Amino acid sequence: MTFQELKTEEETYLMHTYNRFQIALERGEGATLWDAEGKSYIDLTSGIGVNCLGHNHEGLIHALTEQAHKVMHVSNLYYTEPMARAAKALVTSCGMGKVFFSNSGAEANEGMIKLARKYSFDKYGEGRNKIITLKQSFHGRTVTTLKATGQDKFHQYFFPFTEGFDYAAANDMDDLRAKADASTCAVMMEMIQGEGGVLPLDKAYVQEARKFCGERDILFLVDEVQTGIGRTGSLFCYEQYGISPDIVSMAKGLGGGVPIGAVMASAACADVLGAGTHGTTFGGNPFCCAAACTVLSVVNTPEFLKEVREKGDYLRKAILSIGSSKIKGVRGMGLMLGIAVGADERAGLVANLMEHGVLVLTAGTDTIRLLPPLVITYEEIDTAVSAMKEVFGE
Ligand SMILES: *Cc1c(COP(=O)(O)O)cnc(C)c1O
Repeated sequence: MTFQELKTEEETYLMHTYNRFQIALERGEGATLWDAEGKSYIDLTSGIGVNCLGHNHEGLIHALTEQAHKVMHVSNLYYTEPMARAAKALVTSCGMGKVFFSNSGAEANEGMIKLARKYSFDKYGEGRNKIITLKQSFHGRTVTTLKATGQDKFHQYFFPFTEGFDYAAANDMDDLRAKADASTCAVMMEMIQGEGGVLPLDKAYVQEARKFCGERDILFLVDEVQTGIGRTGSLFCYEQYGISPDIVSMAKGLGGGVPIGAVMASAACADVLGAGTHGTTFGGNPFCCAAACTVLSVVNTPEFLKEVREKGDYLRKAILSIGSSKIKGVRGMGLMLGIAVGADERAGLVANLMEHGVLVLTAGTDTIRLLPPLVITYEEIDTAVSAMKEVFGE
């Protein structure tokens, strides 16, 4: 199929929910991707933060092949070993209580929201169900997680949305205090707002908000769908904020490319969702859990996480050293970085970077977002930075 034929078929048969870049990607190796015409690209996207071990990772492919030969899916009506191993790896890595596996980030957040509401219902009865999220946040595309998302542009068309959400300004304790009332059961936030623009929260704010919630038995929920699984240089980003949440959600990087999410609760909340209160057909299947086990065994070591921080610092400094007036600053942590550029210039820069063999993402209105595979090599970073020099220097 030529690119034009592929494009025509796709436009005929697929709903136009995405404006795609004009290339068809065919294969990858580490942090390098090739399109159907054989042109190579440094992948600074990881498929939106998913392929943390890069493309064609030997260990991951071995684990998946081995599991596919055994059994891919049996449903949650039976015990399977990969699910138990993945859950243990997560829980013991950070002193949490128990895990529920889902298939995506939005579903993980749905589970987190359900858990928080039931915790409050069981303890305080009806009416204490409000969840406060932050302005500029992003929590998913289901009807409930759209409403949890603190951006007006997501609250259109699909009425009626789920009730019981309110939005506080990020880094503003007074606003959080004002909005938290007797009906509030939880506060939910991303440590670094990803889709919102790669906006890290202030450490002092997060610590104060966590303490404030703890004192009122308002559950503190952290959405680590994008920031989790080593992305920022610790297994979970909240660790670098010196706090521990009541519930944490994750997805994207967890399966290294296969769809899996999870909601993980502290011991106090671990048994809120009992038999019959929550479920999923695909969630926790042995295929995806085998991937998660491999990802966690590679990513969750002090050496690997240290390297993520070092590579992140290296990339950030290299970008800043380009010294272009088009680069207004670099935000983020580890290998989750946002380059602030002019809103009007951004689309042109992204297209030009692709032309020069570098794939990047955007976030917010004026940010180029970088989420490279965590295994990206220094050589691949240098190649990407040389291309950036040409593009930003023009
Ligand atoms: C991507 C993302 C989601 C949604 O995840 P899906 O897998 O697309 O449903 C939720 N929260 C955050 C912070 C995300 O970055």
